[in-house]
Amino acid sequence: MKITSAEFVISNTDVLKCPNSKLPEYAFIGRSNVGKSSLINNLTGKKKLAMVSGKPGKTRLINHFLINKNWHLVDLPGYGYAKVSKTEKKKFQRFIESYFEKRHQLVNAFVLVDLRHEPQPLDLEFMQWLGVNAIPFSIIFTKADKLKPKAAEKNLATYQEQLLTHWEELPPYFVTSSQTGQGKEDVLNYIDNINQS
Ligand code: GDP
Repeated sequence: MKITSAEFVISNTDVLKCPNSKLPEYAFIGRSNVGKSSLINNLTGKKKLAMVSGKPGKTRLINHFLINKNWHLVDLPGYGYAKVSKTEKKKFQRFIESYFEKRHQLVNAFVLVDLRHEPQPLDLEFMQWLGVNAIPFSIIFTKADKLKPKAAEKNLATYQEQLLTHWEELPPYFVTSSQTGQGKEDVLNYIDNINQS
């Protein structure tokens, strides 16, 4: 798929105020600093569509972008920001869960994971929650350019092993780099194929 238009639609703190639209939507979510904004900008070919920031976890907005006038790309806030209280974390968790529970337009969630790191309990738990709630998801491994191919392969294998202790089947996954554009076509084609079906 070629992205010919990508427009910012609206930012919300309340899921009930998200666009009342029947367009299919694809959500992007992951730990703060995982490279979500960079990936969104790389996928859409717009350098400043999503805000790349050095200060993770500050905003808790659900951002809708209209792509090619026929689907929504949703930028969900990053989770796992260390410097917040337990109460804040719970509140945030409920906020994210309400998005997934209420947005019936959601077709697929892309869970972003930094390929450099060991599988993190928070990410695994989140995927588990998506699975239990029958929310289709795929994994996008980010920052692949930061690793040598051998190390990338090793980390990927470790991740898959971990996932297979929880799941019978692996979810679809993509290895990407916003720096080199690796994986971009695969993610876009994946979305396109679902939209066409
Ligand atoms: P977000 O908090 O998940 O939206 O993450 P950002 O997109 O703001 O990225 C966090 C940091 O990682 C920034 O310094 C980015 O420049 C860097 N980054 C993001 N993606 C990549 C990538 O694919 N390769 C490299 N080398 N750096 C990346």
